[in-house]
Amino acid sequence: MAKYETGTVVQRLAGNVYEVDEGNSHIEVNQEVAAATGAGDLLIRVCPAHVYSREADGTIGVEYAACLECGTCLAVAPPGVLTWHYPASSMGVAFREG
Ligand code: SF4
Repeated sequence: MAKYETGTVVQRLAGNVYEVDEGNSHIEVNQEVAAATGAGDLLIRVCPAHVYSREADGTIGVEYAACLECGTCLAVAPPGVLTWHYPASSMGVAFREG
C-alpha cells in the first residue's frame, strides 16, 4: 500500500488556485460598527487565511483575494459588521487538496 503524505497545512494550502475578481471584493466591513463592537480584533484572530488586518488608521483591512470561503468570520461577527457573499461564478478559491 502506498503511503499518503499529507504535508503541512501551509503546503496543502499552497495547492489552492485563486481566481481573483479584481476590484470586486466579496467582503465589506462596516468600519463604524466594527469599531463600536470591537469586532476587528476578533476577525483578525479567527480568519485562517489572514484576510483581515489592522490598518495604520485603525480601520480593518480586507485582503479578500486570500479568502478560503470557510464562513468563520460570518459565524462570529456581530450583526452589521460584515457584508459577505460568495465570489462571482468561477471566481474565488479552488481547492486542489484536502
Ligand atoms: S470566509 Fe473564512 S477565509 Fe474568508 S475571510 Fe471569512 S474567515 Fe477568512
